[in-house]
Amino acid sequence: MPDTARIFAEIIDLVKTLDPTNTRRWFDDLVVLQFAHGLLEIGCPDEATAQFLTDTCRSAFTKAAQNTTGHLVTVKFSPTVAKIPSTTASKPNQALKVHPDYTFENFVVGPANRLAHASCIAVSHSPGTTYNPLFLYGSVGLGKTHLLHAVCRETQTKFSNAFVRFLSCEQFVNAFISAIEKGTLPEFQRHCRSVDMLVIDDVQFLREREHSQEEFFHTFNTLYNNRKQIVLTADCAPAELSSLEDRLVSRFKWGLVARLDAPSYETRIAIIQKKAHLRGLEIPEPVAEYIARKVQANIRELEGALTIIYATAKTTGDKISLELAKRAIGSVVDVARTITISEIIDAVTGYYDVRLTDLQSKKRSQSIALPRQICMFLARSLTRHSLEEIGGHLGGRDHTTVLHACSKIKELQQNDPQTNAQLTELTEKITKS
Ligand code: ADP
Ligand code: MG
Repeated sequence: MPDTARIFAEIIDLVKTLDPTNTRRWFDDLVVLQFAHGLLEIGCPDEATAQFLTDTCRSAFTKAAQNTTGHLVTVKFSPTVAKIPSTTASKPNQALKVHPDYTFENFVVGPANRLAHASCIAVSHSPGTTYNPLFLYGSVGLGKTHLLHAVCRETQTKFSNAFVRFLSCEQFVNAFISAIEKGTLPEFQRHCRSVDMLVIDDVQFLREREHSQEEFFHTFNTLYNNRKQIVLTADCAPAELSSLEDRLVSRFKWGLVARLDAPSYETRIAIIQKKAHLRGLEIPEPVAEYIARKVQANIRELEGALTIIYATAKTTGDKISLELAKRAIGSVVDVARTITISEIIDAVTGYYDVRLTDLQSKKRSQSIALPRQICMFLARSLTRHSLEEIGGHLGGRDHTTVLHACSKIKELQQNDPQTNAQLTELTEKITKS
């Protein structure tokens, strides 16, 4: 066995270099269940983790095992604890397929997501009684799915007999359609309506799906009347789910509606550090700060930036430094966060000590014209507003004037170090705020 342990440690080490992105610190806690006749069976805490490893990491483990042993090896991941027994005898409680990263512990809480996080915890501690339904909404990449997985996991841990069912909205719709086709609708209905907690992600996909909406409406009513917990997410507020039936939308508001906003700069730094830590990687402070400034709107892209940086470090063999990070993600621009023209105007007027009315006036003195043109340039590069809209904010100037200003400032940016420094400082100020 000591031999097996040594070989396994080598395999894990190799996996770390082969696939750093998907490496997790807890790989060190994996155990060998059997290692014989070309089969390496690896034990992990639960079904969800086994699923993650099988889906995401099996090829790296296989390659590492084969390189280390010099033989063909089949890798299998198995949970070391028995499956949670189901309360509903009619239907096996398929093990919850939750992502092992998506736990409450790995979720960084900040002002932008505090309510959503707290309500998710409350619901998983007393399902069906506190907030029912719980409706989370926010734009893409802000952690809705992460929180749903955490709710499911936590509830299942706390109430091992509870039947928790997690579905993406598409899965719900597809299962419904296929049940109709196969004539198994009663079974599908029993399946959805006999749960203790029904969690459905991205309900905006119910738009334009009248029959599925109808089905969902009845499922909702049954569960609600039986005091079973319902947790839903969408990319917008219930009221904005315009093409959804009113009676459904009004039900979404019965319980608690919690919004997720884009996280603050401090929260983003903490998230980057958490993500790096999960992978067992060191991230120098200036690099974390740089990523947090660069990517603002979408946490998924934050992770993407981290991955690119590590991949670059790995291929070049360089240490992770600010220089390397700039090289790796310097050209990646985060366009998702909506910076407003007013924010830009505020920053510029403050910086050059001019008034908005001056910027909007016809004055052409250099002390006014330059800040005005800088406003236009920054609005053009940091927002998605059209030339006309930008001109409109600055005294109703037409698009050719804005275009001219943009090319003039761009030229100064390249040829005049002083303007370049001012632009950098202003951009930092605006994107940081
Ligand atoms: P959504 O469902 O809102 O589109 P996800 O839940 O898929 O977003 O989140 C995208 C990624 O960002 C996931 O990897 C998730 O772990 C991560 N993430 C989002 N918010 C946080 C947070 N507050 N703390 C840690 N990770 C987060
Ligand atoms: Mg999602």
